[in-house]
Amino acid sequence: MNDTIKELIHGLKDKLVDYRRNFHVHAESGWTEFRTTSVIARALEDLGFQIKMGDQIICKESMMGVPDDQTLEAHMKRAVDQGADPELVKKMKGGLTGVVADLDCGKGPFLALRFDIDANDISEAQDDKHRPFREGFTSINPNVMHACGHDGHAAMGLVVAEILSQIRDRLKGKIRLIFQPGEEGVRGAKPMIDAGILEGVDTILGGHIGFQAARTGMLICSTDKFLATTKFDATFTGEPAHAGGAPEQGRNALLAAASAALNLHAISRHGQGASRITVGTIQAGQGRNVIPPNALIKAETRGETSEIDEFMFQRARQVLAGAAQTYDVEVDIKLMGKTSSGQSSPEIMEIIKNNGQKIEFFDPDQIIDNTEMRGSEDYSHMMTVVQEQGGKGTYFMIGTDLSAGHHNFYFDFDESCLAPGVELIVKSALDILS
Ligand SMILES: [Zn+2]
Repeated sequence: MNDTIKELIHGLKDKLVDYRRNFHVHAESGWTEFRTTSVIARALEDLGFQIKMGDQIICKESMMGVPDDQTLEAHMKRAVDQGADPELVKKMKGGLTGVVADLDCGKGPFLALRFDIDANDISEAQDDKHRPFREGFTSINPNVMHACGHDGHAAMGLVVAEILSQIRDRLKGKIRLIFQPGEEGVRGAKPMIDAGILEGVDTILGGHIGFQAARTGMLICSTDKFLATTKFDATFTGEPAHAGGAPEQGRNALLAAASAALNLHAISRHGQGASRITVGTIQAGQGRNVIPPNALIKAETRGETSEIDEFMFQRARQVLAGAAQTYDVEVDIKLMGKTSSGQSSPEIMEIIKNNGQKIEFFDPDQIIDNTEMRGSEDYSHMMTVVQEQGGKGTYFMIGTDLSAGHHNFYFDFDESCLAPGVELIVKSALDILS
């Protein structure tokens, strides 16, 4: 069986890189992954998977940070121009991107594999220092780039699907592949969970290339201490007035936002663990001689546990409301992203480790049991939900040399990590389902 899987992967190596580069060229950010989803859904259907899309897998009410309708329409059209299936794109109207695909192999455990598919809002480097530029596969979509490696994740997911479909007679149970949109900004997991896609799942596997495994040959088998986080926009609305003639008639939204920004950063630390708060941007005002009637704050909180993050966010709401009251303006707080903290299950870590040790690509000295995330990734929300319903899960990191850090416009990775990554996932799935 070992050799069969190896042979199958060997035969699909070029396809793996082709998929990755195809997704890289057509990078799409959160809730606009119309073409990416279309390519994935078509391929999975051809492999005999049962496909679910649109409101079957995304709870509309739970969507956060969705672009406006006009932007979404423009992206739907752009996606079709770039080869997306118009019928499939229609199913994603409103930004309901992503796809869930099931392979039913009879009685047995229920395993979910999660792959994120979105890109970043960043303009890709266009010079010879950057390999995707040298080799002609940079993003053709302006200001969007796969700068985190999710193009690699989507490619791996499709090849994992192809191999699993070919060895399905060896599998007992059900496999669900989750191709998740909107991981950046932690927007995609919650609406998928709220649509019920994890009901009945006993084990979930997810991972990332690179990150703390930033050398080819490295493997981190599990991850703990994902930071819970809440992203939010606060819009202040006041009243404009003549700054010289009648300032007393104005209501100053800029001052409310400025005061809120200072006091948000003054929220007390939490005794039970790490916390963060950042006001990332403030935009306010209209003209030099106008009392500013408008202001927007984009901010986020984080916590070592979901409780600590919730403490930070609730205190933030109070600060924002207090600042609005002081300056007699209104404030509207909109949730833009949210995810919980998370810890991997040791039993599943062992499965990843055992299989990693059997794959030559991974350097035995560089196979690490566990790392601390100290950042946020909304897979942790999925893993926590599965654990709360009595299941298990882990988050692994597949080592790869990186040309620049994640989210940098020079980001690129060593594609030789993709095939061993597929092998690791397939063999672990086989252990769980046989
Ligand atoms: Zn990422």
